[in-house]
Amino acid sequence: MLTRTETMTRGSTILACENGDFVQPAVGRVPAVFLDRDGTLIVDKPYLAVPDDVEILPGVVDGLRALQAAGYLLVVVTNQSGVARGYFDVDAVIQVHERIKELLTRHDVSIAAFYFCPHHLEGTVEPWIRRCPFRKPGPGMLWRAAADWSIDLKRSWMVGNAHLDIAAGRAAGCQGILVGTLSGVGFAEAARAISARAHATVPRDWP
Ligand SMILES: [Mg+2]
Ligand SMILES: [Zn+2]
Repeated sequence: MLTRTETMTRGSTILACENGDFVQPAVGRVPAVFLDRDGTLIVDKPYLAVPDDVEILPGVVDGLRALQAAGYLLVVVTNQSGVARGYFDVDAVIQVHERIKELLTRHDVSIAAFYFCPHHLEGTVEPWIRRCPFRKPGPGMLWRAAADWSIDLKRSWMVGNAHLDIAAGRAAGCQGILVGTLSGVGFAEAARAISARAHATVPRDWP
């Protein structure tokens, strides 16, 4: 397994699930928006592993710019069980993340970090076959990011297109907004709602 330092220097982060401390971190200072990847930021293509297949969804660039302008740190948290299942390797995940970063950087959007969980209990490739508490809907990736980036979880949000995203956000102590076909809420709309509450000390539930 790559070490955290190796992947960080390559502009991405692999969650070192086995070494991570699975505890709620101390309260930080920075509000963040945790972002699911597939079906939230980019078109959901099952087990996408090729950088050229990355397509940013409509409304995402504008939405991320609004969130950034409102002072939120942007952090991607994504389950990538395709690694455990043997569909692609960790390097492929990192290359996809590099591509997303490159596309967003063109629009002056900066993602602070990408966290992903490569594990799955029904995987076929060691060392990734395991039930992992960091995998969403667990709060582990969000807590790890909060510890790494001094994030104030109470003032932070999780945006995703699946119920497990919202569950992870709630478990971590954040607010959540479900986007996409399950809710009919677009990313830009969600970003506006979050930005409008940026300066509230205690965000209200949304909608
Ligand atoms: Mg998704
Ligand atoms: Zn994991």
